[in-house]
Amino acid sequence: MLQCTAVTEIPVPEALVALLDLEGGPDDPRDAMADDCFLLCELGEHDESVEHAAHLWTAEPHGEQDLWLLWAGTGAHRVYRFATPPPCPAVLCDFRTGAVEPCLFFDRHRPRAHSFSVADPLADLIAPTPDD
Ligand SMILES: [Zn+2]
Ligand SMILES: [Zn+2]
Repeated sequence: MLQCTAVTEIPVPEALVALLDLEGGPDDPRDAMADDCFLLCELGEHDESVEHAAHLWTAEPHGEQDLWLLWAGTGAHRVYRFATPPPCPAVLCDFRTGAVEPCLFFDRHRPRAHSFSVADPLADLIAPTPDD
């Protein structure tokens, strides 16, 4: 499944407040957002019945309280909220190598495609090919 291509601007003041309120959040929330003014929806392609979602912060201890920005609509019609849903319990196991890759999304995410099943064609495009 391809990754959703929605992008949104971080509502900075609200994000700072959400990070300050977050248990296990950054010591200085401004550091967490220094060079990230726009966020890309990380979910697989979905329709408008599903909110876009971008991961903002991984709280310590890991996997306890990740902060997500969820939004719908664009421009003046954008509606957003911050949420700390529990992580998705799915893991991808490679029994040949013993490697385990956890899903990076939150529990009960929609669409159901887990992060390890979502391809990001843009990142693949930007990433250098082995021939470079
Ligand atoms: Zn999306
Ligand atoms: Zn998942």
